[in-house]
Amino acid sequence: MKIHEYQAKDILAKYGVPVQSGVVIEDKAEATAAIKSVQDRTGVEATVVKAQIHAGGRGKGGGVKYSPTTADAVENVNNILGMTLITPQTGPEGQFVRKVYITEALDIASEYYLAVLLDRANECPVIIASSEGGMEIEEVAHSNPDAIIKEYVDPTVGLQGFQLRRLVKRLGLSGAHAKQAMKLIYNLYTCYSETDASLCEINPLVITDSDEVIALDAKFDFDESALYRQKAIAELRDEYEEPPAEVEAAKYNLNYVKLDGNVGCMVNGAGLAMGTMDIIKLKGSEPANFLDVGGTANPETVKNGFRIILADPNVKAVLINIFGGIVRCDRIANGVVQAVKELDLNVPVVVRLQGTNAQEAKEILAESGVDIIAADSLDDAAEKVVAAAQ
Ligand code: ADP
Ligand code: MG
Repeated sequence: MKIHEYQAKDILAKYGVPVQSGVVIEDKAEATAAIKSVQDRTGVEATVVKAQIHAGGRGKGGGVKYSPTTADAVENVNNILGMTLITPQTGPEGQFVRKVYITEALDIASEYYLAVLLDRANECPVIIASSEGGMEIEEVAHSNPDAIIKEYVDPTVGLQGFQLRRLVKRLGLSGAHAKQAMKLIYNLYTCYSETDASLCEINPLVITDSDEVIALDAKFDFDESALYRQKAIAELRDEYEEPPAEVEAAKYNLNYVKLDGNVGCMVNGAGLAMGTMDIIKLKGSEPANFLDVGGTANPETVKNGFRIILADPNVKAVLINIFGGIVRCDRIANGVVQAVKELDLNVPVVVRLQGTNAQEAKEILAESGVDIIAADSLDDAAEKVVAAAQ
């Protein structure tokens, strides 16, 4: 689960990470008062107005605007609030901006990249830092891999002093800067572990002209499996920022991820869902989604699954591939028939049911009178659905 920059900064501040704070507004009418409160607190007229969306690269897309005067800031708030911001991370459809954050404009001496994230290959957290901050870190990793510093942390002993010293040395920091940075990195690591984050990213971390080390931007991602014990963080969820179909699917305990193809997939079990997507590609089409209806699929889940898949206008055919282990195929077949009748389907549906009561399922589908293309093997099903989608 992702959160907004202003929320991430609140959390960082609680862990003693110096952040550049600001004021969030959702209503253009509050602009002048909000700008003034930032100016009064900092004693600086110049501000920066920042779109709050769950995607990075806002600066490049015109969602971060330096505003030398109050009038400029008001104008920038008016332009950014309600805009559809397109950044390298939003995709071409962009993201509607509902909130802006107003902060003091800082005089930046240098920008760094700093993040703690989970390294799945090494099964431990890793701290990634670079003196090439501000821009896209992927680009730096590609063009100048030596500029990326990594420090792996043994989770049983935690981040060690020598690792902090090594990090700041490799970043080229010394004296007071190094001291502040070591404390900041240590606090960031504590924040990462205590909040069950999978990513805490500060880009840029800056050193100001007055020698302060501060987080200017912040991006978090949390492990959703841990949200049950992170109640305060779970409340920060902003469903407006998430794909509507995924929010809808989560209500029914369906694991849905939207993709770009035209073959809708309804499958039970994540492994089988992956296999189904692979074979659709192999047969020459692209899956429109990943959908795992779970081990306890029933007529209701099938119906909800259909609704979510069909909300995607790209879907030209649907493949239902269910293996009846615990769930019986005849129940699924009844669910499919019921859903097809109730939902008034206008795309071809290919069904492959195997496992417990597969024979009964076949009979139910054959006798139902609904327009369903039956398939025996997965190979057969994939060929039929790819043909149907064309
Ligand atoms: P994003 O990563 O989404 O583009 P950032 O918050 O990192 O958004 O802002 C982009 C760039 O804008 C930063 O790298 C920094 O150079 C500049 N910037 C952001 N906030 C300020 C600020 N308060 N003062 C001065 N420059 C800023
Ligand atoms: Mg940034």
